[in-house]
Amino acid sequence: MQIVVQKYGGTSVANLECMERVREKVLAALGKGQKIIVVLSAMSGETNRLLDMARAWNESPDAAEMDVLLNTGEQTSVALFTMLLHKHGIKARSFLGHQIPIRTDRDFGKARILDINRECFLKYLESYDVFVVAGFQGADCEYRLTTLGRGGSDTTAVAIASAIEADMCEIYTDVEGVFTTDPNICPDAQKISKISYDEMLEMASMGAKVLQIRSVEFAKKYHVPIMVKSTFSENSGTLVTQEDEEMESAMVSGVAYDKDQALVTLVDVYDEPGVAARIFGPLSGANIVVDMIVQNPSREGRTDMTFTVPRGNLEETVQILNGLQEEIGAKEIIQDRQVAKVSVIGVGMRNHAGVASIAFSALKNENINILIISTSEIKISCLIESKYSELAVRTLHEAFGLNHASQTTDAK
Ligand code: ASP
Ligand code: MG
Repeated sequence: MQIVVQKYGGTSVANLECMERVREKVLAALGKGQKIIVVLSAMSGETNRLLDMARAWNESPDAAEMDVLLNTGEQTSVALFTMLLHKHGIKARSFLGHQIPIRTDRDFGKARILDINRECFLKYLESYDVFVVAGFQGADCEYRLTTLGRGGSDTTAVAIASAIEADMCEIYTDVEGVFTTDPNICPDAQKISKISYDEMLEMASMGAKVLQIRSVEFAKKYHVPIMVKSTFSENSGTLVTQEDEEMESAMVSGVAYDKDQALVTLVDVYDEPGVAARIFGPLSGANIVVDMIVQNPSREGRTDMTFTVPRGNLEETVQILNGLQEEIGAKEIIQDRQVAKVSVIGVGMRNHAGVASIAFSALKNENINILIISTSEIKISCLIESKYSELAVRTLHEAFGLNHASQTTDAK
């Protein structure tokens, strides 16, 4: 018996008409003799609507009760969609996360999956052809309801595919796949036919919000191939899978950007053991994710420390640093919120020389100044003034020949 996991996002089940389209897709798969596990998100806008209501009385409502509330979004989708399948004579039933159960830790709002009861699927798939599972949901060991973080239905789908050893996890969304860059900025962006987990993680963490990052981490760990496709077309999508030689042949696979950055410079902090720990310890304690960090060479026992944080965390960061200023000897704390990070990404960088120099000359040709550079094995990131971010993305995209990338199938 071949079991397929298909996940449909909020825009795919936005209303009853959209659900009819999903039903057609499910029917087509059934026609191939497969059993199907459909994972659904809440109807688009619903999770936000619930969040807004919950915040009417209190900016930060009780996290456990919030998860009880948010669970209703996905519950509505699966019930309605199962009714639609019944109308068409399909043997289907819905499952909520806690009914399977999908067991998670107790980190309400961003719980991690600990275990999925695989037997549940095997047992009930004898009597049903389609299982309609509520994405995003879980339950802790006392059956308190949890949720997996925004976009968490992707992770539900990948985790189920892994638990039942499905050949493929199909993720249906409102875009045709993963593109070489954001098509809204660069109309020449090409759809990538195949991308490695690591490249996808870099793309996703920098704004290519097609898949929840956690779902990609999960897929990488358990070797689950993910096919990202559009619900609204029949075109081929993007396969997210293990790295292979073909992927390495391209120098660069994509260009990502992140405008949600702010830059902080601590001027003239003491250059002595423990200073970095004294700065970044309290920031991590406040759950602030520091990204690019540069420490300048020392001058007479003093140094400058520059780093980036998400823009929304800038005020809190500066507040924390003000409290530390004396202890670390900082003469000044400079902040700049007009910055953006552009990155070129590709596993091919491992065996192609000169990627950095191509990127830097491309930016130079447009007179774009680089404030910070950071690199990893498969990524080169440059922090620049945010007003140049779109130009920088287009320039880099072209410099690496991604406008007509050979690894792609068809254009947007
Ligand atoms: N409904 C949740 C959200 O909007 C989960 C999901 O759609 O994957 O984030
Ligand atoms: Mg999503």
